[in-house]
Amino acid sequence: MPNFQSILEAIHQEAIHAKDKGVVASYIPELAHINPEHFGMHLKTLDGQSYGVGDYNVPFSIQSISKVLALSKAMALVGESIWERVDVEPSGHPFNQLALLEIENGIPRNPLINSGAIVIADILLSNLEHPKEDFLNYIKAITNDDTIRYNESVAFSEKVTGFKNYAAANLLKSFNNLNNRVDDVLDFYFHQCSIEMTCSQLSEAFFFLANKGNCLKNIAQLSETQAKRINAIMLTCGFYDEAGEFAFEVGLPGKSGVGGGIVALLPDQFVITTCSPGLNKKGNSQLGMLALEQFTTKTKRSIF
Ligand code: GLN
Repeated sequence: MPNFQSILEAIHQEAIHAKDKGVVASYIPELAHINPEHFGMHLKTLDGQSYGVGDYNVPFSIQSISKVLALSKAMALVGESIWERVDVEPSGHPFNQLALLEIENGIPRNPLINSGAIVIADILLSNLEHPKEDFLNYIKAITNDDTIRYNESVAFSEKVTGFKNYAAANLLKSFNNLNNRVDDVLDFYFHQCSIEMTCSQLSEAFFFLANKGNCLKNIAQLSETQAKRINAIMLTCGFYDEAGEFAFEVGLPGKSGVGGGIVALLPDQFVITTCSPGLNKKGNSQLGMLALEQFTTKTKRSIF
């Protein structure tokens, strides 16, 4: 059994001394204020151990990491009918790219790029009685933590600057792949992205995907097959046009967000979360990717 805490500490030391820490996302104005020095890492093993280094208890904007939790909730609500409206192929393009959507008649390539996540938001809007409240309650329940909140300033900041997301939603609507009003769907989508969580809360929230669909309290959130499918989608689509690189370097299913977070997991073994807001050119956390590469190399734990 590797000494996880000392491995995390060694990675932390290397990360805080790295020269190139990437660039904090500024296209969402509220995110531009994040401290670029913030670095946290948290590991939760299925046998109940937790390990953390750095700022693992400091909340940050989960952004696109929320897309996995929205997909999980939609799968629990409507099952396989999701795949009539969104595909499961890697896009090989940036998260906000629009061209493929038009070529492919309004069926997004996968649920983890923005257009796919907007379709999932539409499904949740149609199937939850109080969508924003119910979705937040779902996240609180799977994390077993009542303190998780939306950040209204971040949601508002995206609402007034999210032109590409409006373009994507309008295109989807023109292809009849949105049932609700564009403004309502995007209001939900911007809120889900604005959720703030710490590394340790995220490791706990994603526990069910490493644990055959059963959350920390051992309550079934998804079937084993559904959890397996979501992990497959994270592996192939979780890092946009860098999904291949993440599989190559890290070798785990995972998901990034432009707030600088990454969650990755090894089924039946652990969930690991990093947060470092500086992004690389593909919009994924520069140090988070490096730290996870180091982790799977030093511990020899990956799906391969
Ligand atoms: N809210 C962001 C957006 O829609 C999420 C992008 C991301 O985290 N990759 O642009």
